Amino acid sequence: MKRGYWLICIFPYLPTLAFSQSFEEEVRCHFYFSPEWRQKMSYFFDHVKKLDSIPANARTEQVIYRIPLIFHVFHYGEPIGVGTNISAEQIYSQIEVLNEDFRRLNPDRNQTLPEFQSVAADAGIEFYPAVFDSAGRLLPERGIRRYRIERIPGFFWTNETLDRDLKPRTIWDPTRYLNIWVIDSLRLNNRVGIAYAQFPDLSGLAGLAPQGGLALTDGLVVRYNRLGSFNKVNVPQLARGPYNLGRTLTHEMGHFLGLLHPFEQYSCNIDGDFCPDTPFTNAENFRCNLNVRYCPNTPTPTMIQNFMDFTDDFCMNLFTQCQVQRMRRVLEVSPRRKELVTSTVGLPEEAPRPVVRLYPNPAEGACKVEVNYAQPLSYRLCDNLGRTVEQVENLTSNQFTICLEGKPKGLYLLQVTTSSGGMILQRLVVQ
Ligand SMILES: [Zn+2]
Repeated sequence: MKRGYWLICIFPYLPTLAFSQSFEEEVRCHFYFSPEWRQKMSYFFDHVKKLDSIPANARTEQVIYRIPLIFHVFHYGEPIGVGTNISAEQIYSQIEVLNEDFRRLNPDRNQTLPEFQSVAADAGIEFYPAVFDSAGRLLPERGIRRYRIERIPGFFWTNETLDRDLKPRTIWDPTRYLNIWVIDSLRLNNRVGIAYAQFPDLSGLAGLAPQGGLALTDGLVVRYNRLGSFNKVNVPQLARGPYNLGRTLTHEMGHFLGLLHPFEQYSCNIDGDFCPDTPFTNAENFRCNLNVRYCPNTPTPTMIQNFMDFTDDFCMNLFTQCQVQRMRRVLEVSPRRKELVTSTVGLPEEAPRPVVRLYPNPAEGACKVEVNYAQPLSYRLCDNLGRTVEQVENLTSNQFTICLEGKPKGLYLLQVTTSSGGMILQRLVVQ
């Protein structure tokens, strides 16, 4: 890891703020229940079932799938680390949670009830922040793109407005990045929402029409104060539970990779999530009652600790073997999923150092500068006595021109500073 590339942001711990948001029950997640969708999912699971019946060796070879993430953070101009402009640390705490939960390295895995320990499984899926932006430049903050928006009193996002207005304008190539939008408000079916996900698209699979358009909305959406873990990062917006340990994104990632809720059919006779190792249940669960048994015929209690139920964050701690098989199958067959695991938007060890290119050099009249690093940047031009002759902050592009008209001939030093504090020096000869 190259230390200089991280945006280090230290902020004081603030006592719990009085949140103005209502205490209305929040909806953990959401997806469409249209008949069309039902049909689509049944086709999909038919297909997955066929694949599952093939004696695959994938289960023993333990290939680790790695998925690059880009978080699009929408804020109101607060400093980084305040309010909606959440810190990189808060985001990285979320990635840590995902990696723990999907590798069954979560510290609470020992809390899984004894009757479910044998079906609890390591998904062999990992997540990492993208290093490069969509143009191939180094991101100032790994995995993060920030957007300032205007606050409109009374406005709130809905899944419809997000899918129609925000996502298509900001999405990065969904075959190279898993897009995650972080927003301040969310209404799902007129209720306070936390997050929602888009299921795997089925284009190209037998029996299905192409799903044009869905690529523009693919990914996850989560509210800024339900992202990350209060166990890992001390930020005021995560102080209030029960959805403050990062399990919302674990749950949504499950949907993104094709999982359903175990209670999906609200039936004690139908396997709601097509996974026989999650006991039948006819109800979703809130809070954390480990002994509840909704279907008397099941040999075990209801598996309320499953990440795909609605229980409190501290109460969830497992995916099952069947769920793991389905998610891994999606990563092998589904469009905009299978490409992600071979994306080259940057593993940390591949990140090159920022480079500044000057041309022409020696220069007369003007010199063009190109930096292989995403904005923002600033630069300072010093003469051979070390005096600053020109200084510019907040450049809006990683390509700019320095005007040399009227500057004495001689040797100059150009110092370019990146937003993460990295500094690059280049000699410039003015003739
Ligand atoms: Zn859900």
